[in-house]
Amino acid sequence: MIQDGQLLNYIGGAWRRSHASDYLDVRNPATAETIVRVPLTPRDEVGAAVQTAQAAFADWRRTPPTERIQYLFKLKRLLDEHFDEIARLTTQECGKTLAESKGELQRGIENVEVATGIPSLMMGYNVEDIARGIDEHMLRQPVGVVAAITPFNFPGMIPLWFLPYAIACGNCFILKPSEKVPVTMSRVFDLIDELGLPPGVVNLVNGAKETVDALLDHPTVRAISFVGSSPVAKYVYSRATANGKRAQCSGGAKNPVVVLPDADMEMATRIIADSSFGCAGQRCLATSVTITVSEAGSAFKEHIANAAATRKVGYGLDNVDPRSEIAGIEIFGPVLSLMHVQTIDEAIDVVNAASYGNMACLFTSSGAAARKFRYEVQAGNIGINIGVAAPMAFFPFSGWKDSFFGDMHAQGRDAVEFYTEKKVVVERWPREWSRKF
Ligand code: NAD
Repeated sequence: MIQDGQLLNYIGGAWRRSHASDYLDVRNPATAETIVRVPLTPRDEVGAAVQTAQAAFADWRRTPPTERIQYLFKLKRLLDEHFDEIARLTTQECGKTLAESKGELQRGIENVEVATGIPSLMMGYNVEDIARGIDEHMLRQPVGVVAAITPFNFPGMIPLWFLPYAIACGNCFILKPSEKVPVTMSRVFDLIDELGLPPGVVNLVNGAKETVDALLDHPTVRAISFVGSSPVAKYVYSRATANGKRAQCSGGAKNPVVVLPDADMEMATRIIADSSFGCAGQRCLATSVTITVSEAGSAFKEHIANAAATRKVGYGLDNVDPRSEIAGIEIFGPVLSLMHVQTIDEAIDVVNAASYGNMACLFTSSGAAARKFRYEVQAGNIGINIGVAAPMAFFPFSGWKDSFFGDMHAQGRDAVEFYTEKKVVVERWPREWSRKF
């Protein structure tokens, strides 16, 4: 919520004005206009948010999962009803095209949908008679108060990688969105306010480094989810784990695409151009290096130069014919490097030499080459004849090497693992006790 040109925090089920002494301007990157001012929430206010979340946890964890997910069904309906409005806010504060904003919000909503399956996804397992009359069970229990810290390039989608799973599993959740793009989530939290959740189950604190550090240091926060640049991901992971917390920290990327001579060059160029230049080149799965193999080099160079020359830069909400190509591919300043090698083995060596391991793609018509590539490449997300291999919400959003610090990723079953603790119960009921009833 915005009051007097300033964003409020959402703590304990109510919008609250921060007593922060520092504020930042949030600007529309296309017009440089100031949209709103965002408070840099100080440590003591973060502490208050953690306390209210902890107070809510005792009852929320006892709320049956079938009841908890009813709030997610309502959230999905509200997000669908306000879809266009939220996407416009994302374009205004982030600068991407409206089509891109709608696309990311849709991917976020898909996570709300998957999290409604928590009653099944949270199931444990058991074995009867591990010894005579003794049974063993594995149960999943929520972790407690958990927090997520998110980046500027997907203001709608990335917070929804975490929030739905966290609360459906029975945790209480605190979001610290990017201080560069806090408006989208502020509006989403207006909708969350309409859900009637118990106060404290979800909270929103705005801010930057000091606010993040307060979450990383607070002993009651049990788990930290982070998405952003690699240096900050590494820092957050180190500080959170040093403080005894569970952490999943996704970092940056330098995603390579390999083009073999047998690739469909027209399709490969079109897809790589969209992957490199679309969304202002600001997707963590954007292609930033293309490695051509042997004769693919000259043909690809010519095609991609033509594709790059047709790109235009502008404001994502401007007067563009919605049927024109530019309506879907508007850009701000992307760069694609070209490299050339002679064999697929050399290409894979180049890919694997990189410190990042977020995504790698291959364009080919050879099944054998595709299998070799997916088998040998050291990256968490692989695309075969696909430019942006973004996993669906029911798969983990993977990432290796300097692109991810931790064990369990965002989305799908990994999210359930991350937001629950396993408890193993070994149980015996002697027969003579049973006879008393
Ligand atoms: P960033 O690292 O600057 O900021 C991310 C978050 O960390 C923000 O909420 C910010 O307030 C906080 N932060 C920044 N500096 C901090 C510090 N020193 N101490 C504590 N907290 C700090 O990232 P960004 O510029 O907002 O986002 C772009 C980056 O995110 C790119 O590198 C992109 O590749 C990456 N990204 C990765 C994925 C993925 O899934 N791997 C997805 C989206 C974006």
